[in-house]
Amino acid sequence: MNLSDYNRVLIRSSIYDVLIEAYGSHYMSKINKLMKLQHYDNALESIGDELKALEKKLSKNERLEAVQKQLAEISEEQASHIKKMQAVEIKTTEMGDRIKKEEAQLYDGTITNAKDLENLQNEIKRHKNLYSSFEDEELELLSVLEELDATILTISTEEEKERSEWERISQELKSTITSLENNSTLIKLAKETDSDTLDNETVKDYEELRARKDGVAVTHIQGNTCVSCYLSIPDALKRRITTAENTNYCPNCKRIIAPQLQCTHKGCTEIGALQINQTTAEFRCTQHAI
Ligand SMILES: [Zn+2]
Ligand SMILES: [Zn+2]
Repeated sequence: MNLSDYNRVLIRSSIYDVLIEAYGSHYMSKINKLMKLQHYDNALESIGDELKALEKKLSKNERLEAVQKQLAEISEEQASHIKKMQAVEIKTTEMGDRIKKEEAQLYDGTITNAKDLENLQNEIKRHKNLYSSFEDEELELLSVLEELDATILTISTEEEKERSEWERISQELKSTITSLENNSTLIKLAKETDSDTLDNETVKDYEELRARKDGVAVTHIQGNTCVSCYLSIPDALKRRITTAENTNYCPNCKRIIAPQLQCTHKGCTEIGALQINQTTAEFRCTQHAI
């Protein structure tokens, strides 16, 4: 074989590789395709559940709501104390003015009667007592307001922390949701592509069986046991499953029993599980993760 022959062989074999890569799925047996559909549906279901859980998480932050409620309540309390304070301040000012007037009256000579003067003096004394009790009330309210201010500051700080933490968490949740949605789209597309290589009747049968069997139409065996119903299957059936191209059913749960899918990495014979990255959904073993 001369060099150009050798090159031709190389080229031909690499074309063959490309063809296998591109049309490999068409050569795959029907049973393997059905198994793939099942894997896609399992993944779609678990992504659906995960999405529901994440949306629920995103819709409500109980801790933040609790802190905000606490803050609203204490702000209301503060507002009512400020009102009380303003009322007391008005009372104090009015009483102060009144005392000033009465004291002026005491010395301006308008009252000459000794009894009246004594009465006025008693009145002034009484008003001064009231005035000082108003002042005490003001001081008391002031100290309550100071306490409320301090509490509000603490809760506001907590609320702010909680809010920015939630901002971060919800961003994370949203980006997880987006990537799960992307995965879901990718899997749906892969499912469509593989479904298109099967005849409509087969796909319809698969969907109907899946609907009847709690979402699992295609299952596999572990040793001699069906992994869906946990009952053992006859040896003869087991031999048929590992070699057969045609459809075999579990005698107990009536699901299709298929051989497990192989890793799609070239030459690998390990069992492959569905793996997704941003652009592809493939069946790979743990060693050949994408
Ligand atoms: Zn079974
Ligand atoms: Zn592999």
